[in-house]
Amino acid sequence: MKELCVELGEKPFRAKQIFSWLYKGIQDIDEMKNLPSGFLARLKEHAEVGMLRVLAHQQSAQDGTEKYLFELEDGNAVESVLMVYDYGNTVCVSTQAGCRMGCSFCASGLNGLVRDLTAGEIVSQILDIARNSLVRVSHVVFMGTGEPFDNYENISKAIGILTDHEGLGMSMRNITVSTCGIVPGIRKFGDDFPQVNLAISLHASNDDRRREIMPVAKRWSIKDLMVACDEYTDKTNRRVTFEYALIAGENDSDKDMKELAGLLRGHLSHVNLIPLNEVSETGMKSAGRARAKEFKSYLESHGVPASVRRELGSDIDGACGQLRNKVATAPGE
Ligand code: SAH
Repeated sequence: MKELCVELGEKPFRAKQIFSWLYKGIQDIDEMKNLPSGFLARLKEHAEVGMLRVLAHQQSAQDGTEKYLFELEDGNAVESVLMVYDYGNTVCVSTQAGCRMGCSFCASGLNGLVRDLTAGEIVSQILDIARNSLVRVSHVVFMGTGEPFDNYENISKAIGILTDHEGLGMSMRNITVSTCGIVPGIRKFGDDFPQVNLAISLHASNDDRRREIMPVAKRWSIKDLMVACDEYTDKTNRRVTFEYALIAGENDSDKDMKELAGLLRGHLSHVNLIPLNEVSETGMKSAGRARAKEFKSYLESHGVPASVRRELGSDIDGACGQLRNKVATAPGE
């Protein structure tokens, strides 16, 4: 932006003003009130305020959760979700169009990866939701379509913009990044963002089972993962959240439950038990909320904090990638 300002015959400090206006949520360059009008006219010839087009919008009648399908400039589509919690409004952002991790239970990876999202496209999901739903967004979770650590540079830049005082001014502590377990990414993340929360999609308590449902587990074992998580807690003093989606007949047996408790006991962790969102293409079934509650009691009685995730938006294609697959109007897919 500084370079562009200089090219257009202005001082580089104008870039800071432009930056600040953009994240106030303006929709047009003319809204940048403290900039000289001649400069704004020149700027309009070279730049525009990027926005995402809403392709589909659904609101849950049950809990108010809103789901957006946005169109990117090249015609690809991504999903984002707005969830209303008592501590604030949370947006779940996508980091890639599609995903190449291939987890067997997930809708996002069914058609592979199309491309990484830019930092702008990631941040736009939040700005556009705030604008369209007329809400203030206080929390962001990187848990939509895509693997954040497969697009590290852009998610870093996005976190930078979200937390910059001239950007969205969010607290690092209100941001959570979820990974399927890319170990070098976890290491780098602990160094770069020690105040941002980390969630790990575990979904199985031994390597054989994990490799069956998550191809990434063939590259890094659970042991590699736990070492990286311990390093992360040593570095950051932050507890790691482990996500565990209960899939009938896959990872929901008593043996799985005991193994999970044994694996996590003594680590600074929290288990988020998720009743599986059923995606018809995968054929996998949820083990049910009652089973998730049994897992929770067992884990807690064995010294491992756990909670059962509230199922928000289950009436509006809540599982990752489902809306995108259903609408599938985006060209190039
Ligand atoms: N790629 C990242 C972030 C996106 S997925 C990751 O794997 O963590 C966000 C969470 O939703 C992950 O824990 C993922 O495993 C989980 N998930 C995917 N499909 C699901 C489904 N059908 N039901 C429940 N959770 C699912």
